[in-house]
Amino acid sequence: MVENLNRSELNIAINKTRESFDTDNPTVPFIEGDGIGIDIWPASQSVFDAVVEKAYNGERKINWVEVLAGQKAYDTVSEWLPKKTLDTFDEHGVGIKGPLTTPVGEGIRSINVAIRQELDLYVCLRPIKYFKGIETPTKSPQDVDIVLFRENTEDVYSGKELEEGSDEVLKLNSFLEDEFGWKIRKDSGIGIKPISNTGSERLIRAAINFAAENGKKNLAIVHKGNIMKFTEGAFRKWGYELIEREFSDVAVSWEDSNGNPGDKILVQDVIADAFLQQILIKPQEFDVIATTNLNGDYASDALAAQIGGIGISPGGNINYENGKAVFEATHGTAPKYAGMNKANPGSLILSGEMMFRYMGWNEAADLIITSMEKSILEGNVTYDLARGREDATILSTSEFADSLVRNIQ
Ligand code: NAP
Repeated sequence: MVENLNRSELNIAINKTRESFDTDNPTVPFIEGDGIGIDIWPASQSVFDAVVEKAYNGERKINWVEVLAGQKAYDTVSEWLPKKTLDTFDEHGVGIKGPLTTPVGEGIRSINVAIRQELDLYVCLRPIKYFKGIETPTKSPQDVDIVLFRENTEDVYSGKELEEGSDEVLKLNSFLEDEFGWKIRKDSGIGIKPISNTGSERLIRAAINFAAENGKKNLAIVHKGNIMKFTEGAFRKWGYELIEREFSDVAVSWEDSNGNPGDKILVQDVIADAFLQQILIKPQEFDVIATTNLNGDYASDALAAQIGGIGISPGGNINYENGKAVFEATHGTAPKYAGMNKANPGSLILSGEMMFRYMGWNEAADLIITSMEKSILEGNVTYDLARGREDATILSTSEFADSLVRNIQ
């Protein structure tokens, strides 16, 4: 039983969200973040305050409220993700965060994933666009202008995993053999990958709705449905069914249009491995992507590399139905650079740009883009964006933020 909103209800919800940010002094909770969080958060905040001041002449101001998560929360209140943090995000509707550590193969589960799941932020939105001046590993980075919608609450991220040798895994293994005749090696760990109709439809609805609202020409459903037929394959099938049911006035599948969609959005599906080579060969053929959680994780980092790396790749976690959103950079905590005032704050600053735009503060958002364009073109950049550029001056995290502030016009 699908419980989410249909197309017109979704648009009503999005409009209501826009109205709810119509205030001059919103409180915005932020998580500083582990690792390089201590470097990139203060740098980013200085840029946010400067663009708001410039755009609104003191008539608007963000009231920043720090909330705890990760190492700082553990050191302060002995919890990795205090309930108060989730409640504060929930109360204020919009927030922003730095990266948080997740140990590999042991220890606590991902706090980033927990925030997305607890607040039901079902879309991970990742726009990938090139800034002129950056040296990239590909020849035509300017051809990349893609907005990726990654499902954010299901798939292998749902945390249904059992450890090899545990009583639970042996019990499940016996059950699978007795009930389904599935023979799985006894020394296996087992993970479960749930993908629901509800989760798939609301993600794909958000993506096609975005494409329609923003005049995009095509939408690709990216999946691995040839192998995982009832999860990834179902994601594809539910996507086509939804678009046929709710969006046939604005979108048409490749099959139904023979590749000639006229004024409509062309909807096609691409198998994930083929997608990873097609974005290198012909990125200009992709505008909006709707994909499952793990595919989206891989694809967004691959796309980020094409335009200059994860130092310049923003993201937002959004529930379009209730309007809640937490914005965050694509990258992690880059521990080897923590506290060195070296990492690029660009991803977090651009995540703030997305946040301002989401709130309807377009003037502040525009100033972030123009100042970032200018600093990069001048060659005043952090170490990562200086790679391959002979004209570049390498700036520290805080100096890069200062350069942006100077370029706000
Ligand atoms: P990472 O922290 O993203 O760092 C990998 C590499 O990416 C860095 O060594 C650096 O490359 C480059 N990089 C990342 N952020 C950068 C920045 N701001 N400026 C310039 N370069 C940057 O990935 P990881 O080392 O795999 O993960 C570290 C921790 O972060 C893990 O605990 C992981 O779980 C966590 N993580 C958190 C999030 C999140 O909070 N949403 C997301 C991903 C990972 P160079 O070495 O080439 O300079």
